[in-house]
Parts: sequence; structure tokens; C-alpha cells
Amino acid sequence: MLRKGMRRLVHGCREILHRLHVSRCTCIDERQLSQIGHTLYQEFDDGVVLLDKNGFLLEANPAFCRQSGFSLLELLRMRRTQLRAMLQVDWDIVLSQLMTSGRWQGALWLKHKTQGWLPYQLMLRRTAALSGNVELLGVFSAQRGMSADEEQLDPLTGLLHRLSFDNQLRLLCRGTQPFTLLTLDLDQFRQINNQFDHQTGDRILQQLALRLQRLLGPRGMVARVGGDDFALLIPDMDQPEQAQQLAEEVYAEVLRPFKNGDSEIAISGTLGGALWPLDARSPGALWRRAEQALFIARNRHLPMLAFSAGVRKELSYRQKLQQDLLDAVQNNGIWVAYQPIWDNQRQRVGKLEALARWSHPELGNIPPDQFIPLAEESGLIGLLGEKILEQACADLALLHQAGFDWLELSINRSIIEFLQLDAQANSWLDVIHQHHIAPAKIIFEVTESLLMDTQSQHLVRLHTLREAGCRIAIDDFGTGYSSFNYLRKFPIDIVKIDRSFVLTVPHDHKDTQLLLGILCIVQNLGYEVVVEGIEDEALQQFLLQHHCEYSQGYLFSKPQNFTSLLEYLVELSPQVRASGE
Ligand code: C2E
Ligand code: MG
Ligand code: MG
Repeated sequence: MLRKGMRRLVHGCREILHRLHVSRCTCIDERQLSQIGHTLYQEFDDGVVLLDKNGFLLEANPAFCRQSGFSLLELLRMRRTQLRAMLQVDWDIVLSQLMTSGRWQGALWLKHKTQGWLPYQLMLRRTAALSGNVELLGVFSAQRGMSADEEQLDPLTGLLHRLSFDNQLRLLCRGTQPFTLLTLDLDQFRQINNQFDHQTGDRILQQLALRLQRLLGPRGMVARVGGDDFALLIPDMDQPEQAQQLAEEVYAEVLRPFKNGDSEIAISGTLGGALWPLDARSPGALWRRAEQALFIARNRHLPMLAFSAGVRKELSYRQKLQQDLLDAVQNNGIWVAYQPIWDNQRQRVGKLEALARWSHPELGNIPPDQFIPLAEESGLIGLLGEKILEQACADLALLHQAGFDWLELSINRSIIEFLQLDAQANSWLDVIHQHHIAPAKIIFEVTESLLMDTQSQHLVRLHTLREAGCRIAIDDFGTGYSSFNYLRKFPIDIVKIDRSFVLTVPHDHKDTQLLLGILCIVQNLGYEVVVEGIEDEALQQFLLQHHCEYSQGYLFSKPQNFTSLLEYLVELSPQVRASGE
């Protein structure tokens, strides 16, 4: 349609101008214009402009005035630089193509007087054959209708799809104006499709597309760039705070429940943002930055993150932290805290869980949830884990010597540590033997993620450790996908029921029944049970009633350093001190 319209226009224009003998040195006057044609200038839906060889506007039709928001008079009075600034396009490329082939066609952004940047397709053609001083003819077609090429649009939502969006992005990157790219990924959208049906999922995507278009309006462009991935381009937005603000508005639209017949469906999503030219120097790099921001936001359970605002800081913070962690691991900056695990039957501390601690000289205490993943990423976890095991075994040996010889030690091990462990598990078993500790006193806590990773080498190592006499506990039980299945498949001795299962017990009936059910199955299968996160007496009484063997939580003690642990143990069992002395 564009080509046909364009051909018609150029042809018409050429003929009319030819007939008029417009002189090269005079502007087109009113009379001539009216002759150039009512059809051409007044009724054509696409914006039409005529420029002279110096790039000054000679004429624009009403459609272009609407597209730009300026009156013809305002347009005619504009300087060339003003006119150029209205168009977001790489002028070097345009001009060189016009020189060589006499025409240029492509997508660009046109700055509307009041509504900001709007996307168009522009066809520019040199009209050297024309008389008068008309040098260039330009036709602006709206993005959607202009090519009638529906392939440009996503059939489900009517938004641009990835390819066209990429073109727009590349175009903007060639220009000089700053802009923002936002990417939106819906959380677990597959579940919506599974739980309802694909048509329902499709309807949500359509409603969301509409909301995003309404929200953004003429400020920018929205695209569906993947199944449940959307992207937004906002020209002229160059402040991380603005991007954050818009991301919040988008997020609110995602959270607003969607109609599904008589009911409603709620979804959520995560957004990442990146700013041009602040965050990247190429379109591909800008995508990556926005996606990196999204990834970090998701990991940190944030709804959104703009790269410049958060990720840059985060990356340099992480780099510094990684260096500091290396120093700490090498120079004994990591220490071990112990949390007692209460033996409900014998009414005494039965086990100790060793928990890594890092007291950073400037940042204070950094929780293991933060520095363990950092150690894993930077390859430090092996060394860190060895130091923890070494220190904990040395301390346990002291406690055994002091008379607390029944105490067992629980050591956390991550999946990466298992991957790095030698097949005979010698690097761990040697430490235990060196401190003359019976392996039966050592428990290795693994999480369900280790068992989810079906690598057979994990299984071999678990067996090796058990054959050597150590025991295996499954930590945070119930937080994974198929917890009971792991019990069947893996060599496990102890189950540590996650704190999330006991938060409302015994007050909440359903949660209480659920905990009882888990306890019943696990106990009947013959596993030793530890319930984590005991903070109040009512829960502890409930566990006693139901013959739960071990309780761990702040009700008994928070994790503490070795000296205060010793005082705590001595206070609970004064007779041990007597016998130990
Ligand atoms: P985890 O193994 O499940 O450890 C128990 C966590 O729950 C500890 O947090 C402990 O302080 C906390 N906790 C215990 N009782 C209560 C309670 O009554 N209420 C509440 N709110 N929390 C309680 P911590 O020390 O921050 O450790 C977090 C996680 O870091 C551990 O979870 C473990 O997965 C990991 N971790 C700690 N040390 C090591 C280590 O040396 N190696 C490895 N691989 N992971 C470690
Ligand atoms: Mg643990
Ligand atoms: Mg745990």
C-alpha cells in the first residue's frame, strides 16, 4: 500500500509540478499549491512534506500537521536544525542513501509538538527531475496501517513483535536522543495456561497489551517480544528515576486483576530497565542490560529495577564484596556460629548446627544467604566450606573433651560443594578423622535442590559419606517441589521440617493438620525429625505432644559464637562442667 500510494504521489507531484513550471528559486505559492491538488495535500491520510535542497520545508499537508502537532505556518518558520531535531533518524545514512539511490525508506520517530515521540514509516525521495526548488518529497505513514503488512504485528495482541521492535530500537540507537527500554516478564505465566486454558491466558495477554498501550499512549511504543514477555521504548526518557516511576506504573497495571468471565485472575511480573546512552553502546548490549536488571530484580524479589539505578551499583558492590570475601576466607574473617538443636526426649541440647558468619569490617554482619551464593559464584565456596568444617570439627572435639560427648554436629553443604567433592569424599572425611571425631556424630545437611539435580555423582557421594558413618539430613524440607519423592530415592537419615510449616501452628487449623500429616509420614518412614524455627512455647508444647524428636529455634537459642555456646551448655548441664573439669 505504501509503495503504491507513494508511486501515485510522486507521479502526481511530478506531473503537477512539471505543469506548473515551478521555478527553482521561488517557493511554491498559494495558487500553485491549490493546483498541486486538493487530493494530494488535503485528503491524503499520510503526511506529505516537500523540502528544498537546503532541507527547508516548502510545504506540508494537513495530515503532517496533525502528525506533528504544528500548524503549517509554524512548520514553515522552523529552522533546518529544528526540523531535523523533530525526526529521530540517522541523517548520515539517510543522506548518503539519497545521494546514491535517490530514495530512502525506513522507520523513524517523529516528535509531536505536545504528545512526544511517535513512530512512523518515512519514504523520502529526491525529486531532482521536478522543476522548481523542490528537492525532496517525504511521506509519513503511521506505523500500523501504513504497510498493511500485518506480519509486523503480533496477531494476538496487535502490538509490534520482536523483529519490528528490534528495528525501532536500532533506529533509536542510531540517533542522538536518549531513551529508555523496559522489559517485562510475567511470573509463572505457564501456570495460568495450565490452571485455566490457553484461551484464558491469551485473553489476559490481550487485556494487558491494551492496558500497556493506554498507559504509554503516544509517549512510546509497546511490543510483545515473546510468549509472556513485553518491551517498552520511551524516547526522551533519560533519568533512571523516570524509568523507575514508569516501571512502577506498568507494574501496577500487571497487578490489577484481569477479568475472566465472572471471576478475576491475578498475575505478577518483573521489570528491568536500561537507559540509552547511559547504560550501553549498542542495541544488543542495551537489551542485555535490561534483561540483567530484570534477572537481578527477580532474584532479589523486587518488582523492578532500572539498570543504571540498581544494577550498576549492585555489580560494583558485588565485585567489592567478592574481593572482601576472598580476603575474609583467606585471613580467618569467616567464623562459625552454633545453633543448639534441642533433644525433646532427653531434654537437653542434642545437636549443634554450624552456621557460617561474616563480620565485615565496614558493612557489619553479612547474612549467609548473601555471602554463600557469592562464594558459590566466585568459586570460593570450596575453600570456605573446608574452613567451616575444619573450625566446627575442632570446636566439636573440644566440646567432646569437655564432657559434652553426646553432641552431634550438623554442617550445611551446598550443591556446588558436592560438585567439587572428590568421589571418596576424602577432603571432608579426612578433617573428621584428624580431629578424632566419630563420623556418626557428623550430619551433612543438604537441600532439596541438590536432590533435584539428578546427577548420579551426588548420589555416589551421599552413599560414600553414609558408608563412612556420617548421616545425611534434608534441610528446609517441604520447600521444594517433590519432597516426599526425594525421601524415597535418596539415602537420607534426618528430615528438617522448614520453618514455613510451623509459623501459624497450633493456632491455624489447616496448617496444624498439614504439619501433623508431614510428621506422621516422616516418622512412620523411620526418619529422625527436626522441626526448624521454633519461636514460641505453644508450638513447642504441641511438638512434645506429638512426639517430635528435635526442635530448633530462637525459643531455645539463637546461633551464637563458641564461647557463649560453651557458657550456655554449661549453664544447662552444670554436672558436665564438674565432670569435664
Ligand atoms: P538453614 O540451614 O536452614 O539454617 C537455619 C537458619 O534459620 C539460620 O539462618 C538460623 O539463624 C535461622 N533460624 C533458626 N531458628 C530460627 C527461628 O526460630 N526463627 C527464625 N526466624 N530463624 C531461625 P542463617 O544463619 O541466616 O542461615 C541461613 C542459611 O544459610 C542456612 O539456612 C543455610 O542454608 C545457609 N548457610 C549457613 N551457613 C552455611 C554454611 O556454612 N555452608 C552452606 N553451604 N550454607 C550455609
Ligand atoms: Mg541448615
Ligand atoms: Mg534449614
